[in-house]
Amino acid sequence: MKCRCETLTQLEGAEASSYAREHLREVRVDPIAWQTEYVCPDTGKRWLLDYPHSELHGGGPPRLRPLPFPPDSPE
Ligand SMILES: [Zn+2]
Repeated sequence: MKCRCETLTQLEGAEASSYAREHLREVRVDPIAWQTEYVCPDTGKRWLLDYPHSELHGGGPPRLRPLPFPPDSPE
């Protein structure tokens, strides 16, 4: 999949999960918070996939957003 990390601001639903799966590299999984951190292999930009509607059955649709903080800083 072609890199769109420089122009993307946010993805939701199937688009978010397929972009993460086909383009991004998984860095860290937090099974408690239902969050997965990704990094773009082309630009090094970091992304966070989460489930903002986690009260829904199955967690609801995923959301993919860029991480503004560097990897070693506290969240
Ligand atoms: Zn990319």
